[in-house]
Parts: sequence; structure tokens; C-alpha cells
Amino acid sequence: MSDLNDAKVLLKKFFGYDNFRTGQEEIISHILNHEDCLGIMPTGAGKSICYQIPAMLMDGTCIVVSPLISLMKDQVDGLNQLGIPATFINSTLTPHQYDQTIENAASGMYKIIYVAPERLDSDTFFQLLKHLHISMFAVDEAHCVSRWGHDFRPSYTQIANVILNLEPRPIVTAFTATATELVKDDIVSLLHLESPFCLTTGFDRKNLNFAVKSVENRKKFVYTYVQSHLDDSGIVYCLTRKSVDDLHENLLKLGVKASKYHAGMTDKQRTENQNDFVYDRTSVMVATNAFGMGIDKSNIRYVVHFNMPRDIESYYQEAGRAGRDGDSSDCILLFNRSDIVTNKFLIEQGSPDVNHSNEYQKLNDMVDYCNTDKCLRKYILEYFGESPDFDECHNCSNCAADVEVTDITIDSKKILSCIKRMHERFGSGLVTDVLKGSHSSKVVSMGFDKLSTHGIMSEYSKATIKDLISFLVTEGYIKNVGDKYPVLVLTPSANDILFGDKSVFIKRKIEKLETPVGSSAGSRSVSSGASGSGSGSSASNRPLDEALFDILRNLRREVAYKSNVPPFLVFADVSLKQMASDYPISVNSFLNINGVGRYKMERYGYIFLDAIREYVKENNIDVYWDDENAVPSDEVEGSYIDSVSSGGSGNTSVSGNSSAPGSAEVVGNSENSSSSYGVDRTANRKRKYPVLEKESTRQISYNLYMEGKSVEEIANIRQLTKQTIQGHLLDCYKEGMEIDLEKEIHTQYKDVIFDAIRKFGTEKLKPLKEAVPEEVSYLDIRYYVLEFEKE
Ligand code: ADP
Repeated sequence: MSDLNDAKVLLKKFFGYDNFRTGQEEIISHILNHEDCLGIMPTGAGKSICYQIPAMLMDGTCIVVSPLISLMKDQVDGLNQLGIPATFINSTLTPHQYDQTIENAASGMYKIIYVAPERLDSDTFFQLLKHLHISMFAVDEAHCVSRWGHDFRPSYTQIANVILNLEPRPIVTAFTATATELVKDDIVSLLHLESPFCLTTGFDRKNLNFAVKSVENRKKFVYTYVQSHLDDSGIVYCLTRKSVDDLHENLLKLGVKASKYHAGMTDKQRTENQNDFVYDRTSVMVATNAFGMGIDKSNIRYVVHFNMPRDIESYYQEAGRAGRDGDSSDCILLFNRSDIVTNKFLIEQGSPDVNHSNEYQKLNDMVDYCNTDKCLRKYILEYFGESPDFDECHNCSNCAADVEVTDITIDSKKILSCIKRMHERFGSGLVTDVLKGSHSSKVVSMGFDKLSTHGIMSEYSKATIKDLISFLVTEGYIKNVGDKYPVLVLTPSANDILFGDKSVFIKRKIEKLETPVGSSAGSRSVSSGASGSGSGSSASNRPLDEALFDILRNLRREVAYKSNVPPFLVFADVSLKQMASDYPISVNSFLNINGVGRYKMERYGYIFLDAIREYVKENNIDVYWDDENAVPSDEVEGSYIDSVSSGGSGNTSVSGNSSAPGSAEVVGNSENSSSSYGVDRTANRKRKYPVLEKESTRQISYNLYMEGKSVEEIANIRQLTKQTIQGHLLDCYKEGMEIDLEKEIHTQYKDVIFDAIRKFGTEKLKPLKEAVPEEVSYLDIRYYVLEFEKE
């Protein structure tokens, strides 16, 4: 009989998490006790796990009703990434895919099937349901069932009818982030929940840092903020399409990888832009409120509201898209009184004949939020009817303003003098690298590692240094000059700090790292926590090694690209950060990282493990670890749950490449797949190999090229230079691999190059380059040298 212990085992094995979050354990235990449940939990609280884990533990298939087709695909991709057989059935399937999916479903291949409510109207689908053993109906975004809910969907009312006709009646569970008492009652009665266990966890999202800023120049704020957060994913919400177009265009001019999204664009453009953002090909999405409902991206680090929205509900929903992964994230609202006028206009435009007093009241509440000098978090929670037991959260712009004022005069002097010593010719990225003490090839080749300001701020993270630079820009001591690649230039008032007695204060706490880390090659000593006990794997307190974090993030981008999934589905930001502070170099310690389950370990873990080992070795980092090839402790005990069949002998693997899109292909004992994931006590000692083997960097470029990508596209995807990619391809050509490089070559210069080779030989390329026209590239020369040698 399944119990909570098994649920905990699955939580670790499949999802890689050690502990349940608030509310999850309670809901799961009631479901496993065969009770209907209603869970009201804020966005990012982890509602999905509340039904996914019981679905895996119960016999049969769980049907999840979800309103957004675009979300379904992400959810199913996410489950498949974890090795859980799931699929979706909706209108995006071709007839062939639909038939195939139904056939698979009928054979019990899936534990979880996502459907849109409209699907429940279909008789064929109902027949399928009757044929299957349905363990549970989980209704996501359950407020859609209520006409008092803001996204009422008539088809949701069908759910109860369908369930009524199923024998035996499955358990019914419902989840939503927002529900007033009216909506809650509607959900219970319209879904016919039977004596449900109801749980409300509260609206607080502790990892969100709320801020309201009344800045004079909002555009300047956005440009500076986005530029100092280029490595992060973020959304900038605007009220109008015009502002979206304008901000987006200017960000592009500044060299920022930005996408945009509003209702005035074609479906195709919107989908493309959304995908660019979700797949981390762009770092910022500038959008109207039309954007966001269909995305589940967990690593959004900031949401900036360029304008004030019309009510707190909308604000909290939009701002709440930040930090779903639980990591600290900024929610900044830029307030300007002109937004009140625009919002009033939009309210009146809605339907001119209706009385809008309720909407005006909500607008007033929104304006009060912007004007209050009390705790912003408390304001929001009270708005939603909660009674927080604190007056200050110490984490929003109002509380922080009261709490901490830091004197940053000396740090400002350091920054300004570094910019000066670099002759005011570089942007904040390189200035930060120098202050941090980087030994990157760029820093060294320019001799900046010899400057007296090199490494003088190594005690700060790069993000903090960039923040301080942005602050000095906002305060007018530094200017960003130039559009595409802005350089930092001192303004005359910088002299007041450098040579006068001007002090600079910032209204926030500036965190120092405990010990300086980064790309320097000094020897550091940390313990990897490789005991394998599984207990100490919560978020690490050790400082983040940003150089390693960058390496892991680039690796994630490549791996995600190859697997055709968004990077955050490979590993969440929080997992990468923990890797970059704990240095896990044994299998055991890697499995201790939050978010690393068994399947992910096998599919991706070894690649990341290799990268961390290499980094630790190269940088002489002294990490304690027991045994490189240590077998994970639970495997030794023989409780390795990797079998879908309850008998435990089936060797089931799941891959995302099934002919039915987004579905898991289950090989092996598939007829038993929908039986429960009981804890298999039969030892399965057979070591599996990583599904995605580590390839040489050259091979990755080659594969992309053979898929039809241009050199430029590959360089972009891999964040390498075009020359490096050309070098990879040429090496492949040299090795006799099948590749047609001629289209990259200026073939019209073949004779000229051959003449030069005959004259100067092939030993050195430089004389050849000098002897041919300027437009002939080194690639051309190297290519024809090979050709010449062949002849
Ligand atoms: P919701 O549906 O409530 O908005 P999700 O189910 O999408 O939230 O979960 C948000 C994020 O939190 C996901 O990245 C998920 O993997 C993560 N998460 C869920 N439960 C836990 C847990 N117990 N420990 C750590 N992370 C969790």
C-alpha cells in the first residue's frame, strides 16, 4: 500500500527534491487516502507535484484538465525529462499523432494525460476514458470552473458530468492560485467534490523582492537595469503596444537580446518570440499583459512593470511569473502618475455603458500600493484577505529603505578610478571583470590584469559590482555613451567623489562574499558534502563560484538545444547555482543537488559532473570527496525505483522522441506502465549509461552544421566566435568527415591562393594572407592549403 514514505522516495528519485514544500505533503497524503482535495496555493508553490506524485503511486492513469494548450506541452516535456510517462491530447496533434497517442493511452502507457476541458465534450475521448482505469481527475486552474473566476471557461462545467459517468468514480482534485470564498464554493459544487480536504497555503512568495520606484526617466531605468542583468531572464511589462515596440527596439539597439509580444503581432511572430524567450535565446521579453498565461518558465529572475497595471490581482499575477523555481527574484514597478490617466482611459474603453466603480476602486488600491511607505508585501497579503504576523518583511523596497543604508563611497572611488584607468573605453561587463579580478583572455591581452584596480572588488559578486555601477549611472556620476556597445564615461560630478569629500550612500544592504571566488586559479578548500546521506542537500550557504556558474549555464544551453527542450527543463537555475557552490564531483554528491533526480542524473548528470570535475582540477580547488565512482547509497540498499512495472523487473526507459509529440516513449513492459510506481525492493544494479553522451565540442558544431544551421547561427547558439566554429568544421573536413564546406569558401580565389601557396609554401599562413586580396579569409586559405596538399 502506497504511503507518504513512498511519496518522499519518488520526490527525491524523480524530482530530485529532499523535502516537500508547505502543503504538498498534506494534500498528497489525503489523495493517497482516497479523498477529494482542493488546493489553493500561490503560483510557484508547487501545485503540480501534489497530483503528479500520487498519480505515479496509484494504479491507473491520471487525467489532468488544464486550460492552456501551450502549458500542456511544457508540463509534459518537463515530466518526460524526469522519466515519467506522460502525454497530452489536444488540437495541436495531427490525426496520425492523435491516433497513435490514443492507441498508446489505451494500452495504459501513460501515468498522466493532460487534456483541455473541451476534449471532454468528445465522445471518442469519453469512450477511451471508460476503457482506461482512471485513478484521478486533477483539475488545474480550477477557478476557470466558476463564473466568478476571472477566466471562466464553460467547458469546465462538463468535468463533473464526465466523472459522474465513470465507474469506479476516480478521486477528484482541484488546484488554483486565486480563489475568493465565492469561487471556492463554486469549485466544490460545480466539480461535485465529495467532502473534499481543502487547503489554502497563503499568498506569500518569500523569494520575490517587491519594489516600487518613482524614477524620472523610466526608459533609462529599464535600459540600465536590463543591461546589468544580461545573464538573467526577465520580463518588462508595458501597458501599450507602442511602448513595447519602442522599448524593444531600443534594447535591440543597445545590443540586448530582446523579444517582444503583444496582440498586434501575428500568431506566428508571437509563438516564435515566446519560444526564443523560453529557450533562453533572448534574455528579456518586452510585452503587454497578453504575454505570460501560457508559459511556465521557472527561471525568470525579474519582472519589471514599465507602467502600473490596473489592479493588484493583475499585478500579482504578472509579477508572480518571476521566481517559480524558488530562487530570489525582483518584482519592480515603475510608478508614474500618468499611468493613472492611461488606466482610467482603458477602463472607460472596456464597455462604455457599464458602471466601472468596482474597477476604479481596484485602481485606487493599486495607486495606494505605489504610494505607501509601509511594507509592500504586507500590503499585498492584506489585500488578498490575509493577516500577516509582521509589520516589515525586510525584503521590499519600503522595508529595505528603512532598514539599511550603506556607505559606498570607497567602492564608488574604486569603480570610478577603474573606469578612468581603462581610459573610459569599455562597457560595464569588462570593467566588472577587471574589478572582480578576472584573468580572462580579454583582460590579460589588454594588460588590465596589471592595473592597480584589478581585483580590488573581488569580495563582491559580479552582479553586485554591476548593480553598483548601474547605481552610479542612475545617480549621474557615470554615463553610458554609445548605442550598440555603450562604454562607461565619467561625468564631471565623479570628480567630487574621486577628489572631493562627496560621500555616496545606497539604501540597501550590499552583500559581500564570504571568501573571494571567481576565475582566479588560486587553491581553495571546500568540502563537497559527498557523504551520500541525502540529508544535507538543501540550498547551499557557500559562495557561488560565478565562473563555474557561467560554464554550467553555457553547457545547459547546449544540452537543452540538443534535446530540444527549454534550458530550465534540463536543470533549474537553483540547481546550477548549488552545483556552482558545492562542487559535486562524485555521483553521490551530484545526486544531493536539489532538483537532480535519478533520471536526470543519467540523462544529463554525467556531462555536468565532467565539467565540474574538469573545472575543479584546472582551478586547483581542493574538494573533499570519497569515491569518484561511488554507487549511490540507495542503490546499494536495492531500492532503486526505475521500473514502471510494479514487479520491478521491467527495464523501462523513457525518451522524448516518440512519434506522438511530447509523449514519453516507454520501452519494455509497457502493458504494465499504468500500474503504480511501488517502491521496488529488487536491486537493479545494472548501471545505465548517460543517454546523451559527451561529445567533443567539434562534434557538436558538426552536428548543428549538418542539421542545416549556418556558421553564424551555430556561433550564436554555442556562444562561440564564428572563427572557432569554422575551425571546428575545417577539422572535421580534415579528418575526412562528410561535410561540404565549399559554400563557406570564396571559391573565386582558388587560383590566387594556389599561386600564393606555390610561392610561399604551406608552413605559415600569414605570408599567404598578405599575398592575397583582403576579402580572402583564413578559412579560405586553410581550406585550399588542405586541397593543395591533397593534389
Ligand atoms: P505552481 O503550479 O504551483 O505554480 P509548479 O508546480 O509549477 O508551481 O512548481 C514551481 C516550481 O517549484 C517547479 O520548478 C517545481 O519543480 C518546484 N518545486 C515543486 N515542489 C518542490 C519541492 N518540494 N522542492 C523544491 N522545488 C519544488
